Amino acid sequence: MFICKNCKHVDKFELMFSPDYRGGRSFTQRYNEKNEIEISVDGYTFVPDLQFMNQHAVCTYCGQIYMWDYSNKEKGV
Ligand SMILES: [Zn+2]
Repeated sequence: MFICKNCKHVDKFELMFSPDYRGGRSFTQRYNEKNEIEISVDGYTFVPDLQFMNQHAVCTYCGQIYMWDYSNKEKGV
């Protein structure tokens, strides 16, 4: 998971797209066999990483754009 650097909201990939994203915005997510989250957008499937988030994902909570860091909560750190 990723955390918004601005409001500390942890995004569970209920992500918004960049306002200039052009596409159908059909969006699905699932866990693959390695227990990584996999996102499918308009037929393109990928495992999102921090680079992806900081290029495309807007915080659904505070509206801050492209300000993400890895959340360590899931590792218990
Ligand atoms: Zn935020």
